[in-house]
Amino acid sequence: MSRADRAQGAPENRPPSIDRMAGWPALASLVEGAGRPLVVEALRAWVEAKRGTPDVADELACARWCADRLAGLMQPSQRRVFNLTGTVLHTNLGRAVLAEEAIAAAVEAMRSPTTLEYDLGGGARGERDQHVAPWLCRLTGAEAATAVNNNAAAVLLTLGALAAGREVIVSRGELIEIGGAFRIPDIMAHAGCRLVEVGTTNRTHLKDYAAAIGPDTAAIMKVHPSNYAIQGFTKSVAATELVPLARERGLSLIEDLGSGTLADLDTWGLPHEPTAREAIEAGVDVVTFSGDKLLGGPQAGLLVGRRALIERIARHPLKRALRLDKVRLAALEATLRLYADPARLVERLPTIRALARPAEQIRAQAERLLPAFARALAGLQTSIAEVRGQIGSGALPVDLLPSFALAVRGKGLDKIADAFRALPIPVIGRIADATLFFDLRTLDDEAAFAAQLDKLDGLAG
Ligand SMILES: *Cc1c(COP(=O)(O)O)cnc(C)c1O
Repeated sequence: MSRADRAQGAPENRPPSIDRMAGWPALASLVEGAGRPLVVEALRAWVEAKRGTPDVADELACARWCADRLAGLMQPSQRRVFNLTGTVLHTNLGRAVLAEEAIAAAVEAMRSPTTLEYDLGGGARGERDQHVAPWLCRLTGAEAATAVNNNAAAVLLTLGALAAGREVIVSRGELIEIGGAFRIPDIMAHAGCRLVEVGTTNRTHLKDYAAAIGPDTAAIMKVHPSNYAIQGFTKSVAATELVPLARERGLSLIEDLGSGTLADLDTWGLPHEPTAREAIEAGVDVVTFSGDKLLGGPQAGLLVGRRALIERIARHPLKRALRLDKVRLAALEATLRLYADPARLVERLPTIRALARPAEQIRAQAERLLPAFARALAGLQTSIAEVRGQIGSGALPVDLLPSFALAVRGKGLDKIADAFRALPIPVIGRIADATLFFDLRTLDDEAAFAAQLDKLDGLAG
């Protein structure tokens, strides 16, 4: 026992020094796995918790306690989950799952230096936008394109570059809030624009826009209502009708498509969502949309439109603050390339694959899984339920994807939901009408899901 140890008080309930404890053989594998600093931190916590008890110097008990503590700490914070909520593009669960082609491109970009801003032909500096702009132009028919961190950034940058210090006209029916505090009036204020509201919540006419134009007006903006729908006595003005007005009065026409898409969803029997090409063909000057919603790529904000305006946007100082890194650009480029062959999108792009999955295929999967599900929840009322899922992320806010779910009915659903979330790959479902549903539309790895069902124990008890 060292002098320092001896100096500390009652000899029987006194720990050795932290230094000595860190050298205990029972802790060797922990030091190897987690590193000495974290083990020392755990030992300090142990000594604090057990001070004055006989346990404090018990090597094996201490090793077990530290191992538990470190297991929690070493668990990654962002983890893979099964999204069985029925919402395909779930913002809280990371929105789009990337295509294998995009994953491979991102991994390669992470591992090596790349031509991010380098022109191999001339051996000189290049432009990072050049990796995606030609694809965006080809896929939308636009003259020019650029990309930033997300669509919120795309809207902020567009307004800041084209309308700072001036007025922008927006319909009252389109002054939306998207989750996460994206509110059109706030974005306007941050971009330094003055918002001019026209029309009413349910009805806006072309003449309302025309009457609001003044000497300070820079732009008219259309916003996809995304996460809500107005029904009944309604009227909004389509971009096609606003184009002649904007042209005649020398204004920019901006459209925030929100989810937007590069493919015609009708192809797969899904409801129509406006495509970026339709907006460009209608004559909109700048169109913005997300990379990780219906497009099925990494988080990004995409801007397409007239060359002169896109160049002004790309030169704005904020562009530098909002730019994409090489990893996401690589994933985005690979995702856009998949759109060159729309016929194969349904096999290659997980978002389209999930959205286009026939309900009958999902029902068959539910029937395969029900026996194991029922066994794991023996004693509880389990069944296959016909459900309706959502696209999510603001595309068509109404339940409309016919699907099938594994369902548990009865009391104590919160505890059952907790147990599913505590599985090695946490499973996230949805509770409605006294039922816990696991919508199988987005279950791709059926084997991994089934394999962990028997780890749900003590539920029926
Ligand atoms: C989702 C959405 C945004 C925000 O897009 P992010 O890519 O999440 O930044 C902006 N506008 C509309 C209309 C949207 O639907």
